[in-house]
Amino acid sequence: MRKPIIAGNWKLNKTSHESIEFVTLLKRYVSNVSDVDIVVCPVFTALCDIKDVLLETNIGLGAQNLFWEDAGAFTGEVSGLLLKDAGAEYVIIGHSERRQYFGETNQTVNKKIKAALKSGLIPIVCVGEVLEEREQNKTTKVVTTQMKEGLEGVSKEDVKRIIIAYEPVWAIGTGKTATPGQAQQVHQLIRQLLTQMCGEDVAQRVRIQYGGSVKPENIAELMAQPDIDGALVGGASLKVDSFVDIIKNSCVMKT
Ligand code: PEP
Repeated sequence: MRKPIIAGNWKLNKTSHESIEFVTLLKRYVSNVSDVDIVVCPVFTALCDIKDVLLETNIGLGAQNLFWEDAGAFTGEVSGLLLKDAGAEYVIIGHSERRQYFGETNQTVNKKIKAALKSGLIPIVCVGEVLEEREQNKTTKVVTTQMKEGLEGVSKEDVKRIIIAYEPVWAIGTGKTATPGQAQQVHQLIRQLLTQMCGEDVAQRVRIQYGGSVKPENIAELMAQPDIDGALVGGASLKVDSFVDIIKNSCVMKT
């Protein structure tokens, strides 16, 4: 049985002060939640500050990106080593905004996954097709390539530690959610790919989140799908109320 995981990706939002205020409230509302893992991913500069507020709570801390070298002449970059030092346990890798605006490729995603694992971080690896690819029936091909190239050379033991987030790019920040059926189809594909690459045992353990305009109103029907194990939430994770409702509504029975 895979434990569901709901993660909030705050993107480029919230000062340290606002982040502290948010998690101070959040921890009160979710202190009795034990059947869902909860993670917040603030901007780098807020990590250290909110780490202390999250000590001994059921809320994990994640970063939104990392660089693959530990240290050196790489101006402006942040390594896995430093993220661990700042209190992060998770790191989002290959978000579509990073692929779209910062030139990330399956090859850089692969290096980042390996670096995160080496630093003891849990990677949340994003895959997903853009609208044009879906309309041209290329979703399977695109997601298969992202999975194979992204996880190239990662050991089976390490794959067990990874979380995959299927995020159809056309559903991110647009208010358009994939239907539960559309999402399940790709989640099932991802689990089949994991089975081919790493065997049934590993594939059954890996948690696959859905991301793309998740809200309190649609999380339950998404979570009811057999291969959807949680959500990566953007916009609706920025308000305590909606994030808490998503967490609470995510505890549903699987079909
Ligand atoms: C995201 O950015 O990962 C995301 C899913 O955003 P939103 O929930 O706003 O669509």
